[in-house]
Amino acid sequence: MTVNLLDFDLEGLTAFFESLGEKRFRAVQLFRWIHQKGAAEFNQMTDLAKSLRDKLPALACVSSPRVVSRSDSKDGTIKWLFDLGAGNIIETVFIPESDRATLCISSQAGCAVGCRFCSTGHQGFSRNLTTAEIVMQLWFVEHSLRRELGCNERIISNVVMMGMGEPLQNYGQLLPALRTMLDDHAYGLSRRRVTVSTSGVVPMMDRLGEDCPVALAVSLHAPSNALRSDLVPLNKKYPIDELLQACVRYQVHAPRDFITFEYCMLDGVNDQPAHARQLIALMQKHQVDGLSAKINLIPFNPFPASGLKRSDHAAVVAFSEILLDAGLITTVRKTRGDDIDAACGQLAGEIQDRTGAKKRMFSQRQGMLGNIKIVVDSGVDT
Ligand code: SAH
Ligand code: SF4
Repeated sequence: MTVNLLDFDLEGLTAFFESLGEKRFRAVQLFRWIHQKGAAEFNQMTDLAKSLRDKLPALACVSSPRVVSRSDSKDGTIKWLFDLGAGNIIETVFIPESDRATLCISSQAGCAVGCRFCSTGHQGFSRNLTTAEIVMQLWFVEHSLRRELGCNERIISNVVMMGMGEPLQNYGQLLPALRTMLDDHAYGLSRRRVTVSTSGVVPMMDRLGEDCPVALAVSLHAPSNALRSDLVPLNKKYPIDELLQACVRYQVHAPRDFITFEYCMLDGVNDQPAHARQLIALMQKHQVDGLSAKINLIPFNPFPASGLKRSDHAAVVAFSEILLDAGLITTVRKTRGDDIDAACGQLAGEIQDRTGAKKRMFSQRQGMLGNIKIVVDSGVDT
């Protein structure tokens, strides 16, 4: 049984090397070969001692799952589906913009939170991704694109944990993955350019703030507990005030001076002027304690099983104007990748739901970037 070295952050790799009786600096060399150069074969790693290169293949590997498909949009957005086995398929989305390139990464196959407007939520929870499966999305995309473009420079400048799954319900595997993203011997991304998006797992927000404070996005979607509990069932466990207090605590560690609140605009559900006014009151109440917020309005990407509709453009504009007039920084997420809409976020194909039954998913899962139709706007990840 070989170990996948993508499972380790530098500390883990060092411990692994020490267990083999190897020197610590060997771990740094190997880590750089894997993450900075994209090497997967030990015989490529020319500055490693020959004896080590000979012994490693029996013990370890660097491997990523099979690519099921790749869809390229005219605007440069690219989506990959990876097959993790047992019917588990995850998606990873690359979004180039003029001043940065963002990778949207999945953290779980399915999701247990079960938000009403999210097709990953409707799919149910299958399993947590391993650290290797999280990191491999960055490793694979960064180095495939570099090879394709014949480029030695870093391509991906930003990561958002906004694909499938609730990252803070997979904290143990997420943490080494984040550390690898930030490590100067690996991708060297700045904390401000790595964003964890959460539906509000309060205790884990505190842990993240202590262990690895990266930029934070919180999926709010409603200004009152009654409505939020209906849309995001986790709200029953961690209601809005507790969530916003956790945000204030997070800000002490956060690399940015604001937290982004995502608000998915659902026709007639949470998009009325009265909701905007409630949201203002809510934010003002917590501003007193030091909350600094940016609201990101997301056009809902519908899928049949949700029974929900996207808000009219006019409703989104009216809503954002009410917020802006009250002094709240507000942005509306842009739409991109329309030409691959047919494939966007749709895990079209045979996949297994948690009951084990095969079913065809027409998911239109516009889970954030998980669905190519929308893209993180500059506020989330600049
Ligand atoms: N589980 C985490 C991160 C993944 S979802 C979270 O909920 O924050 C990333 C974002 O996509 C969330 O803000 C989520 O609300 C949004 N999203 C999910 N389904 C969507 C849909 N159908 N249309 C638009 N945004 C959606
Ligand atoms: Fe899970 Fe996020 Fe989808 Fe909610 S929106 S079901 S937390 S992936």
